[in-house]
Amino acid sequence: MITIDGSQGEGGGQIVRSSLALSLVTGQPVTIENVRAKRSRPGLMRQHLTAFQAAAEIGKAVVEGDAIGSSKVMFHPHELSAGEYNFNIGTAGSTMLVLQTVLPALMVADGPSQVILEGGTHNPFAPPFDFLQKAYAPLVARLSPKIEMTLERPGFYPAGGGRAIVSIEPAGQLKTISLLDRGSLSRRSVRALVSNLPAHIGERECRRVINKCNWGQESGTVEEVTNARGPGNALIVEIESQHVTEVFTSFGEKGRPAEAVAEKCVKQVRRYLKGDVPVGEYLADQLILPLAIGAGQGTGGGRFRTLSLSPHSTTHLDVVQRFLDIQVEVEEKDRDETIVSIQPATTK
Ligand code: ATP
Repeated sequence: MITIDGSQGEGGGQIVRSSLALSLVTGQPVTIENVRAKRSRPGLMRQHLTAFQAAAEIGKAVVEGDAIGSSKVMFHPHELSAGEYNFNIGTAGSTMLVLQTVLPALMVADGPSQVILEGGTHNPFAPPFDFLQKAYAPLVARLSPKIEMTLERPGFYPAGGGRAIVSIEPAGQLKTISLLDRGSLSRRSVRALVSNLPAHIGERECRRVINKCNWGQESGTVEEVTNARGPGNALIVEIESQHVTEVFTSFGEKGRPAEAVAEKCVKQVRRYLKGDVPVGEYLADQLILPLAIGAGQGTGGGRFRTLSLSPHSTTHLDVVQRFLDIQVEVEEKDRDETIVSIQPATTK
């Protein structure tokens, strides 16, 4: 039994989700103590509980502590099963974080799976659907599994009700990846999703990004969402380069001017472009898990160049090493430039 201290480092939900994913992949039971101890409302919240229950279902796990507010959980998986699953959060909690809990296991399972997720698809402080579809899934696919993602209906806070369908087809042992340069820039775009709100919000957001970044008018699109359950607004920038696509998002909320939403995106985009790295801050912390699982298999792993590491990334690197016999190296090249290497334990 591995014991993970949920208060270490970042001290949030990612420690829980990744510990469950790693337990499923390695078959090692885990106890997580001090769940989300560094958050203002610690313990399991609805999204984490759904992730916990989802992991238990695909791993036929024996569990303890599966309740809202729980600060200690035990998870003992017995048999990982590919198949058809439906996970409904029941609130606007992030379905994409639930997906990231089960995806690593389903991508190395013994058959294809289809996962239907219901809840929030575009949540602040979580990867939005578009980030997973355009930035994360294509990189995971380079490790070998095929992933297809369809958004049937977006779900925004607080109404939720979004629905996404994800099919995952494993394709043998995971391969390595090397992401040291992004190559030449091939496309950039900004898209404003606007649901049950005036379209001018999206127009102002796109205009501000385009003006600040000196892009052509044709780079902006406003997408009026007609099938969501409630109001919502997300601003999504895609930067497509030769070797990688990055996605940056900010979210509208009551009382926040469209221009302020745009500025938040512009700041992320500028940092990424100036850094001249392939992997942005969020993608970095999320890539760690699939690379580590590949390295743990002895066939995968890899290297990537990114900005300075966030507390999410450094904590994640610690957590993966508790489950897997791998070799992790972090080389700080400059103030905002880092190379992360995750390799099987035996290669040097
Ligand atoms: P809590 O912090 O309340 O525990 P949580 O369960 O959402 O919340 P975190 O540990 O904070 O968990 O993890 C959030 C994850 O969402 C991280 O992997 C982070 O990279 C990702 N993320 C946050 N914002 C974005 C964004 N705009 N685009 C892509 N990914 C994001």
